[in-house]
Amino acid sequence: MTAGLLIIGASYAGMQLADAARAKGYTGPITLIGDEAAAPYQRPPLSKGLLLGKQTPEGLTIRAPAYFAEQRIQLRLQVRAEAIDRVARRVTLHGGEQLPYEWLVLATGARSRPLPVPGGDLPGAYGLRSLDDALAIDAMARTARRVCVIGGGFIGLETASALRTRGLEVDVVEAGAQLLGRVVPPEVSDYFARLHTEQGVRLHCSAVVEALQPGADGRVAAVLLADGRRLDCDAVVVGIGVLANDELAQAAGLPCAQGVLVDACGRTPDPWILAAGDCARFPNPFGADPAQPLRLESIQAANDLARAAASVIAGRPEPYQAVPWFWSDQYASKLQIAGLGLPGDLRVLRGELEQGRFSLFLLRAGRVVCVHSVNRPAEHLLARKLIESRVQADAAALADPDFALKSLLEPGPAAALPA
Ligand SMILES: Cc1cc2nc3c(=O)[nH]c(=O)nc-3n(C[C@H](O)[C@H](O)[C@H](O)COP(=O)(O)OP(=O)(O)OC[C@H]3O[C@@H](n4cnc5c(N)ncnc54)[C@H](O)[C@@H]3O)c2cc1C
Repeated sequence: MTAGLLIIGASYAGMQLADAARAKGYTGPITLIGDEAAAPYQRPPLSKGLLLGKQTPEGLTIRAPAYFAEQRIQLRLQVRAEAIDRVARRVTLHGGEQLPYEWLVLATGARSRPLPVPGGDLPGAYGLRSLDDALAIDAMARTARRVCVIGGGFIGLETASALRTRGLEVDVVEAGAQLLGRVVPPEVSDYFARLHTEQGVRLHCSAVVEALQPGADGRVAAVLLADGRRLDCDAVVVGIGVLANDELAQAAGLPCAQGVLVDACGRTPDPWILAAGDCARFPNPFGADPAQPLRLESIQAANDLARAAASVIAGRPEPYQAVPWFWSDQYASKLQIAGLGLPGDLRVLRGELEQGRFSLFLLRAGRVVCVHSVNRPAEHLLARKLIESRVQADAAALADPDFALKSLLEPGPAAALPA
C-alpha cells in the first residue's frame, strides 16, 4: 500500500487537488488536513453574502459530508502540520503524530497581514480571512454604530459595502492615493470611490494609520492618522493584504519568495512535493513576463493550479494556462476582471462609466491583455475570450458599443498572432 497523497490545507486548492486527483485516476489513499474547525467552505461570501445576512455558514460548505467517503478522501480537521521531513517523506503534526506521504501538496493559503502599529491587535480590531473572522465581524456589526475599515482593497471595500448596507457608519482609510490602487486602473478606482461616497462611506485616501487607541474598556475606540486626525469608532476591520503561508516549505528548504516557488504544474524542485493556491507563486503565460512567477489570490487560480498539480500526480502533466480572472461584489455593482494589466497599457472604455455599466479594455501591442467590467457579464465573457485568443483589436472598434466583439473571434482578417 502506497503512503498516498497528503494535502496540507483544506480549502479551495486542497479540495480541488483531492477531487482532480481522483477524477484523473489516482487510486491511492488521499488525506486532506486542515487546521480550521469547519469543513472546507467558500471564502468569497464571507465579505459579501454572509456579512449581508443573505448566506448562512452551513450554505458555504464546498462539499457535502458524503462526498469524502464516496471519493475515499480522509478529511482531518483541526489538525496543524508543523514540519516536513523530505528525506523520510513524512509530515509531523501538532502533538507529534507523523504522517507518511508518497506525494505531498502544500495548499496552506494565506493569512491576513497584521496591522503593524501600536494597538494594532486591540480587542475590537478584526481581520477577515476565515469563517470565524466573518462570524466575529457579523456579531460586532449587530451592536456597533461606527466602524473604521483600514485598507481600500477588495476585502476592505466589500466589508465597507456590507456594513454600510446594514446601516452602520463606515470610514475607509487607505494609505495609497486611490482605492484598489494596485489592482485596477484609475477609471475603475474612481468609479468605486464615487460609489462608496454616494452610499455615505467616508473615504480617507493617502491616509496613514499611526495607531489604534483603546477606550476605557480596553477595546479600540479610535484610529489615529499620521496627519493628526482621529477617527472615533466602535470597531476596526483590517484588510491590508495577506501573507503567504510558506513557512513550512521554507523550513523544509524549498525555494520561496513570499510564496512557494513552483512551475506551471505546481512542482517544487522536490519531485514529491507540489504547491497550489494562495501559498504558491507560479509562471503565468498571461503575465507581462511569462517567466516571472506570480502569486494570484483568487479562486480560479487556486482551482486551476491545483488541477495542474493533480495532473502531475496522475502521471499526465498539464500546465496551468488559463487567463486569470477575479470578481468583486460591492452594493449592486459586480466587478469582473480578466487578464493581467500594467500601468502603461492603452485603456479603452466601452459603455457608460457614470451609470456603472462598462468594460475597460487594456491593450498592449494591439492585443487585449486585460478587461475590467462592471455590470457587463455577457460582454466580459467575450472579452475574456479575446484575451485567450490573443487577437489584434482596434481601439476605436472596441470603444464603439455597436461594434460586435464576437466578430473579432471569428476567422477573418483579424487573425490571431502567434503566442
Ligand atoms: C473574505 C474573502 C473574500 C474573497 N473574495 C474573493 C472573490 O470574490 N473572488 C476570488 O476569486 N477570490 C476571493 N477571495 C480569495 C480566495 O478566497 C482565495 O484565493 C482562496 O481561498 C485561496 O484558496 P487556498 O486553498 O489557496 O487557500 P485558503 O483558502 O487560504 O486555505 C488554506 C487553508 O489551509 C489551512 N492551513 C494553513 N496552514 C496549515 C497547516 N500548517 N496545517 C493545516 N492547515 C493549514 C488554512 O487555515 C486554510 O484553511 C476572497 C478571500 C477572502 C478571505
